[in-house]
Amino acid sequence: MGKVLQIGAGGVGTVVAHKMAGLPDVFSEITLASRTQSKCDAVAKAIGGDRIKTAQVDADNVEELVKLIERVKPDLVVNVALPYQDLPIMDACLATGVSYLDTANYEPKDVAKFEYSWQWAYKDRFEKAGLTAILGCGFDPGVTSVFTAYAAKHHFDEIHYLDIVDCNAGNHHKAFATNFNPEINIREITQKGRYYQDGKWVETGALEIHKGLNYPEIGEKESYLMYHEELESLVKNFPTIKRARFWMTFGQEYLTHLRVIQDIGMARIDEVDYNGVKIVPLQFLKAVLPNPGDLGANYEGWTSIGCRIRGVKDGKERTYYIYNNCSHEAAYKETGTQAVSYTTGVPCALGAEMFMKGIWKKPGVWNVEDFDPDPFLARLGEQGLPWHEKFDVDLEL
Ligand code: NDP
Repeated sequence: MGKVLQIGAGGVGTVVAHKMAGLPDVFSEITLASRTQSKCDAVAKAIGGDRIKTAQVDADNVEELVKLIERVKPDLVVNVALPYQDLPIMDACLATGVSYLDTANYEPKDVAKFEYSWQWAYKDRFEKAGLTAILGCGFDPGVTSVFTAYAAKHHFDEIHYLDIVDCNAGNHHKAFATNFNPEINIREITQKGRYYQDGKWVETGALEIHKGLNYPEIGEKESYLMYHEELESLVKNFPTIKRARFWMTFGQEYLTHLRVIQDIGMARIDEVDYNGVKIVPLQFLKAVLPNPGDLGANYEGWTSIGCRIRGVKDGKERTYYIYNNCSHEAAYKETGTQAVSYTTGVPCALGAEMFMKGIWKKPGVWNVEDFDPDPFLARLGEQGLPWHEKFDVDLEL
């Protein structure tokens, strides 16, 4: 049992707070802080029962964070703000002697660059301080990394080919909207593609490689190869992997909007002068797009995210598919958010639970596949994300 400080009250934060509030035996006290306190208050009110205290903090400011952490005295800080805040929050955790968990790797504001190097560089300091930092504990990264660790532990002697497949077959009935923070989402999707093969990274054009893949209970969806951060840690932690790729589905309508957004310069992340005011076009775009946290009410359909793996067990080649399907409607009924926020928030709260129970706790900076996958997966279905396995099936890849 312990006290938690959660930073970030957006779509994902709403789910994390709901799930942690439902476990009073694990989280004795929850403080929810964010840049806009009224959003924290709204989440706390929706959850009810006086379970959640709220606070205001600018998480870009280490001094402010330190003051808040010293006041709240949590055992763990759960960071579901934006990736830009990862390093200031880790600095504040080190300054106050508190452990850390997040769902997305650090990105500098002025370059859309996704890598763990900045956060892995904190390893020695967390280790010396006897503190745990758990990185990437959402769905992907997060559950996909745990799925891979589970496959390696139970079903393979060697994993050779890993394809992470992420399908959103839902319909939110908007012409264009992103399913999580639009700024972070568009930065991620418009970057060049990249996959790992035979010890090297191979670069592709943005969304250049695509193919139709069949998702359970959903059917065929066009899936696009893109770079995703968990590939970096997984090929390091499972060195038998010869090739690792990440695929995500997009509809034609979404891709057309995205192309227009890029062509007219609205995806730019540098400052431009507008009537004497400096604005970043992509940040301005975020202000006019639908709020991902509000998409849930009319969202229908399913997400399906999993790992398709080929490798060797007892000298024989085998294939394995492990996945979760999540309903947008069911996610909305339970937490008021859509399935993308839900599938990120549930594992995040579960990672925090693993830490509080002392199961995922060791000094240093770790990706989730560095921990035992079994206790996490034993609880994942109970917490709302049941998972399924298929053996020796056609992986299509
Ligand atoms: P939202 O934009 O909905 O929410 C972000 C929250 O962070 C808001 O409450 C925002 O406050 C707060 N925030 C932003 N900047 C600051 C700051 N400087 N100080 C304090 N609070 C701040 O994002 P999502 O909920 O959609 O996503 C949250 C995180 O989850 C992101 O890092 C995203 O990359 C990650 N994610 C991970 C996934 C995974 O599977 N691993 C999948 C999807 C998302 P305000 O309301 O004032 O703007």
